[in-house]
Amino acid sequence: MTAGAFPFEANPNPVDDARRAELLADPGFGRVFTDHMVTIRYSDDKGWHDAKVGPRAPLTLDPATAVLHYAQEIFEGLKAYRLADGTMALFRPEQNARRFQRSAKRLAMPELPEELFLQSCRQLVEVDQHWFPPVEGGSIYLRPFMIASEVFLGVKPSAEYLYMVIASAAGNYFKSGAPAIKIWVSEHYTRAAPGGTGAAKCGGNYASSLVAQSEAIRNGCDQVVFLDAAEHRWIEELGGMNLFFLFDDGTLITPPTDGTILEGITRESIIELAREQGLNVREERYAIDQWRADATSGKLVEAFACGTAAVVTPVGSVHSTNGSFTIGAGGPGQITQQLRGKLVNIQRGIAPDPHGWVQPI
Ligand code: PMP
Repeated sequence: MTAGAFPFEANPNPVDDARRAELLADPGFGRVFTDHMVTIRYSDDKGWHDAKVGPRAPLTLDPATAVLHYAQEIFEGLKAYRLADGTMALFRPEQNARRFQRSAKRLAMPELPEELFLQSCRQLVEVDQHWFPPVEGGSIYLRPFMIASEVFLGVKPSAEYLYMVIASAAGNYFKSGAPAIKIWVSEHYTRAAPGGTGAAKCGGNYASSLVAQSEAIRNGCDQVVFLDAAEHRWIEELGGMNLFFLFDDGTLITPPTDGTILEGITRESIIELAREQGLNVREERYAIDQWRADATSGKLVEAFACGTAAVVTPVGSVHSTNGSFTIGAGGPGQITQQLRGKLVNIQRGIAPDPHGWVQPI
């Protein structure tokens, strides 16, 4: 199938205006959903078919549906923004479409054509555009995902799939700028091994990270940092964000995307913006012991995490069973704030967009 506008069926019972206004006053993240959703089906014999935008509703799944047993599932996350001039836009959505295809390949799933991915995101935002929170920095967070929908208990790639997009209203992730977060080093649990699924955005990666995240919370931290599986030495990424390290000589290091970490779109954008402002950006491995030594000596001056949801988040301190260390003065660093400001201003149409990252809807 090709991507013209998908058939649309309006929700006969949308959330009423008063309730919606109440929900949008403080939507938080991932809890307030819009009235519609996109569905597209796939089967080995028919290919992609039956695309539509319809009322958001619960799914009915046979208990033997493959995804419920073997976790053949992938997803994406991207935001739609209301720009300064009142129009709406997506940020680099073609990058999400391509990453979704790479994830599909790794999970032995069919690749959704880029145009269908883009149309599904654009059309859902258009239909549900009254769900933008009226607060500064408010956005609509899109969650495209695909599940193995064949009813069969054999362990093999499913012959049928269901692709969907749902949308939720997102407030400003941090009400007053980004506070510095505390990071817990997971010494026991790893997230991804060479040859595994670390670079794919599949649910299984997140399921296996939860026990480490719980350990982080138990130890008074906000997020967990994962080390490589082979040596437990090289810093990889957080449960849902990539990491950057800034040194006193203007070098900015981020771990390389060589199969065990997610190729973050925010990461990619920050690399470009940082190079443009004269930083010496290097994608190379950085060891946890070196991080401690450099933070203690003052050679490392700032560290931050980045991703679609929280954009750019300063790392204030790092904790483990070996003790703790603080980054810089423990608060948001100057270059971190600058890079965050640059990115946010492009995303919201406040600053010019020379890279063509902002795609009008
Ligand atoms: N790493 C992981 C494990 C993630 O889940 C995410 C969020 N998608 C990121 C990094 C950041 O990716 P992006 O900038 O594309 O949101």
